[in-house]
Amino acid sequence: MSNCIFCKIVNGEIAAQKVFEDKDMVVFHDINPAAEVHVLVVPKKHIESLSTLTDKDNDLIAKLTQNLTKVATMLGLETGFKTLINTGEGGGQLVPHLHYHILGGKLTKLQALKNT
Ligand code: 5GP
Ligand code: ZN
Repeated sequence: MSNCIFCKIVNGEIAAQKVFEDKDMVVFHDINPAAEVHVLVVPKKHIESLSTLTDKDNDLIAKLTQNLTKVATMLGLETGFKTLINTGEGGGQLVPHLHYHILGGKLTKLQALKNT
């Protein structure tokens, strides 16, 4: 989508501190981290949220989910991590392009994770 921030990061129009990328997904550091480690796992395909998933997305979502531990381990979170997905306005979703948050280490901004 042309006016979507995460699509712009996916296609390189906006810079981001990427830590992993393949043909289906990109992982980059959150610009406003809420924990010592806070990255966003983003499908390259523009999907607005969990609410707009279709059966066609099943393989993609499975892949993203299965890669969370690999990404977290790569970032030093061998002992575990938190995962967060905000959905829709009522769920506190600010960027309408589906993404998983991976949070690890000390949480520094718990407030940022609460629905406002
Ligand atoms: P949401 O509330 O939609 O689940 O979370 C969106 C996240 O994207 C927020 O944690 C916010 O800090 C992050 N974010 C918003 N704009 C940018 C950006 O341009 N670059 C990066 N790296 N993160 C962003
Ligand atoms: Zn998008």
